[in-house]
Amino acid sequence: MTSRTPLMAGNWKMNLDHLQATQLVQKLDWSLKDAEHDYAAVEVAVLPPFTALRTVQTLVDGDKLSIRYGAQDLSPEDEGAYTGDVSGAFLAKLGCTYVAVGHSERREGHGESDELLNRKVQAAYRHGITPILCCGEGIDVRKEGKQVEHVLAQIEADLVGIPVEQVTSIVIAYEPIWAIGTGEVATPDDAQEVCGAIRGKLAELYDQATADGIRILYGGSVKSSNVAEIMSQTDVDGALVGGASLKPEEFAKICGFQ
Ligand code: PEP
Repeated sequence: MTSRTPLMAGNWKMNLDHLQATQLVQKLDWSLKDAEHDYAAVEVAVLPPFTALRTVQTLVDGDKLSIRYGAQDLSPEDEGAYTGDVSGAFLAKLGCTYVAVGHSERREGHGESDELLNRKVQAAYRHGITPILCCGEGIDVRKEGKQVEHVLAQIEADLVGIPVEQVTSIVIAYEPIWAIGTGEVATPDDAQEVCGAIRGKLAELYDQATADGIRILYGGSVKSSNVAEIMSQTDVDGALVGGASLKPEEFAKICGFQ
């Protein structure tokens, strides 16, 4: 089986100004150094707000840190009269490795459709940025037992027209909405059920070797106390971490789950 390097990505959401961002990245770096973190074994990334990206870039470049970073969203367009939007071209100039696409707080809070998210995935690839494509079901869908079909429909729609050469680098984050920021973590079996089904769908849309190489993260109230059992699942290759990524020592522990 293809080996996949786990990725631990911290989604800061709308938290931390650029000064606080500097402190957090420095503390995270120190905590990871203390823990003798092996970045080749487990990749670490942070997703600050747009306003802190330049500062994080300066720190990472200046101190030659191994922590990667990315944005939480991007425009489907490259430039022009789109007030308030931020283009993938700008994010690429800021050295972003990743960009989150379709976080549930954007799907729900900003009415982002799968058609729009598909255009955002394409925009990310146009600028050489790896999308972290988020998917997940709300509590009503989960209660009906329709989580797998719901998530697979999202993935299929979001990846329309994305060629195999591009999709090999994508990161998918399965985040059940009922587990985000609620303290209610999905069981390892819940996470495996959907992450395994996503890999199956990727094999169907592309091929098995491609599906085996794609990293699928779990997100939803991940903490140092529950990360190990989540990571023990066959098809879980990392975590997208919200609240706990704002605490550098705790996030460093999450990164060292093994
Ligand atoms: C997230 O925002 O992607 C997330 C998973 O948040 P939390 O870890 O706080 O549930």
